[in-house]
Amino acid sequence: MADLIQPVKGMNDVLADQSPWWAKVESVAHALFAGYGYQRVYLPVLERTELFSRSIGELTDIVSKEMFTFDDHGDSLTLRPEGTAGVVRAALSNGLLHNQQQKLWLSGPMFRREKPQKGRYRQFHQMSVEALGFAEPEIDVELIALSARLWRGLGLSSVKLELNTIGTAESRQKYKQVLVEHFSRHRELLDDDSVRRLERNPLRILDSKNPALRELIEAAPLLSSYLDDESRVHFERVEALLGDVGVPYTLNPRLVRGLDYYSRTVFEWVTDRLGAQSAVCSGGRYDGLVAQLGGRDTPAVGWALGIERIVEVMQAEGIGAGDTPPDAQLVAAGDSERRFGFKLVDELRERVPGVRISLGAPSAGFKAQLRHADKSGARFALIVGDSELKAGKIALKPLRDGSPQRLVTVEECVDLLRQTAASA
Ligand code: ATP
Ligand code: MG
Repeated sequence: MADLIQPVKGMNDVLADQSPWWAKVESVAHALFAGYGYQRVYLPVLERTELFSRSIGELTDIVSKEMFTFDDHGDSLTLRPEGTAGVVRAALSNGLLHNQQQKLWLSGPMFRREKPQKGRYRQFHQMSVEALGFAEPEIDVELIALSARLWRGLGLSSVKLELNTIGTAESRQKYKQVLVEHFSRHRELLDDDSVRRLERNPLRILDSKNPALRELIEAAPLLSSYLDDESRVHFERVEALLGDVGVPYTLNPRLVRGLDYYSRTVFEWVTDRLGAQSAVCSGGRYDGLVAQLGGRDTPAVGWALGIERIVEVMQAEGIGAGDTPPDAQLVAAGDSERRFGFKLVDELRERVPGVRISLGAPSAGFKAQLRHADKSGARFALIVGDSELKAGKIALKPLRDGSPQRLVTVEECVDLLRQTAASA
């Protein structure tokens, strides 16, 4: 026998035992996005490497060690590690920002060369929502409230909101100096990554996952003392509006996020159900990014969630995906009965929108087919035996509520399944 080909490390198949949860997350989210007026875009998974190094930042974990990058005949290309940079690139490439605002959403695979473990994969899936051209705090809060509504729609109760403001790039300059002084005083405690970051991007040290640095980071001065007035006013408004719509949050003055493009509002939804992989959704304002990528100054805000982690929290909280057994399953043994039944099922599929019908196991014996129909969870068995065939009718057998079997015409069968499908 030939050798089996192994899957790529950290890249998972999502099979039928998991996909109902994915479908639930997607359907609840998609309906909310539409309700809030966000429009879907589909973008390439490959972009020029420069897009990510310029936006996410050279000294971030993502760009410095997690990207899948390769040379394509002299062009350096990278599998997208996140969605926002690509959305902004696409908005600029297609002229979507000329005196226009855009509310967009994106869903698809992202790629990061991380150490695979539960909740952390090399190919994972994000849904992201991006509002381009909006400066108002209402939009920050609209997006946060949208995510809160999504958790409610999914039945999640363990995810909590952490919130911070990191001001504008200008206001962070002064703070950076103070940070450099703080960390330089304890240079011997820093790891190699942090030493490299010290000169060029000291804020990144705050995002370090190295537990040895935790105390030093805890002792660092807070950015809030250096916040510019406009960012302070913006943030007060965000807090007030969150209060108005009743979204609880915890202020986390050390939340800076792992990407350089953020400004002002930043947030993370975290859970205590997934061990170290606690973040399920994160985002914030990125007012400087469009200009950084060559466009005109355009305020923007967005968030991204990881579908794998959302599904894992749902399962950890014992939330089901909602069973969708068939409405009906065919039971027909014998050559002519099978033909009649096959045609009947086709007609029902044509005439009853949304109906879920299964052919079952056409070549099995009558009793085996009936058992199969019962096990499938179907509401009805559509039985075609010798006498039904002669009458051109169907024996409709309710499988769930013990009510008696009835002989019905094709028309009656259509009507009944229309009611069943409509009430599902
Ligand atoms: P973490 O702190 O866990 O590394 P992150 O800050 O790198 O997360 P973001 O870049 O903000 O994550 O991405 C948004 C969301 O995407 C995260 O909240 C998480 O749900 C998901 N995510 C990020 N990286 C991975 C990964 N390697 N595998 C699975 N999901 C991921
Ligand atoms: Mg990460």
